[in-house]
Amino acid sequence: MIKTRFAPSLSGYMHIGNLRSALFAYLIAKQDEGEFVLRIEDTDRSRSRIGVEEQIYNILNAFQLTYDEGPHRETNNTEYVQSKRLDIYKSYAEKLLKKGEAYYCFCDKKTLNANRMKANEEKQNFLYEDPCRIIGIEEAKNRVLAGESYTIRQKMPKTGQTSFRDLVYGDITFDNSTLEDQILIKSDGFPTYNFANVIDDALMEITHVTRGCEYLSSMPKYLLLYEALNFPRPEFVHLPLVRIKEKGVLIKNYKEDDLMDLLNQGFLPSAIINYMALLGWNPRTNQEFFTLQELINEFDISKITKRPCCYDIKKLVWFNKHYISKMNDQEYINFTRPYLENVYNLKDKTEEWINNLLLLFKKHLHFGSEIALVSNLFFRKTIVLDEKCINYLRSDELIPSVLTTFKEEVENCSNWNLQNIEELLKRVELKTNSTKEKTYMPIRIVVTGLNYGRELSKTLFLLEQQTIIKRVENSIGMY
Ligand code: GLU
Repeated sequence: MIKTRFAPSLSGYMHIGNLRSALFAYLIAKQDEGEFVLRIEDTDRSRSRIGVEEQIYNILNAFQLTYDEGPHRETNNTEYVQSKRLDIYKSYAEKLLKKGEAYYCFCDKKTLNANRMKANEEKQNFLYEDPCRIIGIEEAKNRVLAGESYTIRQKMPKTGQTSFRDLVYGDITFDNSTLEDQILIKSDGFPTYNFANVIDDALMEITHVTRGCEYLSSMPKYLLLYEALNFPRPEFVHLPLVRIKEKGVLIKNYKEDDLMDLLNQGFLPSAIINYMALLGWNPRTNQEFFTLQELINEFDISKITKRPCCYDIKKLVWFNKHYISKMNDQEYINFTRPYLENVYNLKDKTEEWINNLLLLFKKHLHFGSEIALVSNLFFRKTIVLDEKCINYLRSDELIPSVLTTFKEEVENCSNWNLQNIEELLKRVELKTNSTKEKTYMPIRIVVTGLNYGRELSKTLFLLEQQTIIKRVENSIGMY
């Protein structure tokens, strides 16, 4: 049975790249009816941020990426938060010390960093030749007991090669001579990510380690640990980089990839998941829309692509619009109404009016909070016309009579309903000897302030007679 894990650190809020990793790990497990594990990697104490852990649970829940094992869903007394597993890492470090494959290092960080920086400035590779490697274990233990600060490092081979086969990137070989003795336990007693992730993946019986390909270069370090600890190697699935369109940089730095922000703005989890799946997975058919269940059915590791993929907010918006337009009316109303209520006072509006307003935009809405923006014309006190609109109103001498006739028709209409409005518009067209376009456009401009929009009759119906009359009157003198 396949078992995968998502192992976020707490150094930053979950972004699109993290979600893509979580989704792929989830799909790889679930397409085989396997298990998906959540592990919180919080060993980098200085970089862990408050609130991130809670957000991870909320996001996985919102996207229905339900984990089978993890925090709050422990099995066999296993802890899934690394800071609660310190004894485990320590015991494995001790095993390696005993076997002579690891050693205590007392070098101070400052000198080390200064050397590293100097080499960087001189554009030379820095490979630390650790003098502590040859300190005898007894002497080292005495120094530890005397309270000296230390790290524990693994002895890396100086010759030979380390190879593995990645299920996406194929066969990869590294020269051991490029590796420095890696730190396993830091001076604060916490394990490094390299050490902890190997131990955890092995003890949690992860069969397919799935993560971003930025970790590929560290693979020899993990592999040498699997070897030293006598752990069987899992399969490795490295995922292509996600770049933000045009900027060409890792998306970590951008707000557009802030998942909470996207959800708060009214992007649907189903649309985000669908688009995320296509960032690095190619179904090799023309199908573009997939539910989570369809993804589970269709997903296949062999269709994961190698080339960096491009996160394009415009494409996500396109998916989102599609998913919104496919909602049933009630779902759509429940989804959009809070965004309207948040901005406008709806106390004197009827339920029917509110629902009609929301539904007017159903096929056109890109994200939930956009409803407040597009429906602004129904709540504004005054309409301001831009130059383009004014120029249009001045472009034909028929327009004043269209507007005057329209105003009269509205004033005389005793039953304000859709059918009467449509008939009224037709009459204006006939009476003024105008065309449909030359009738509709000036009316639209003076009552909405825009030269585009949704169906005019429905818009007029929602605006109501008094508002329309006032707006037509206010426009007199502009053309
Ligand atoms: N904690 C690592 C991160 O958040 C996870 C890498 C991995 O999945 O092994 O990037």
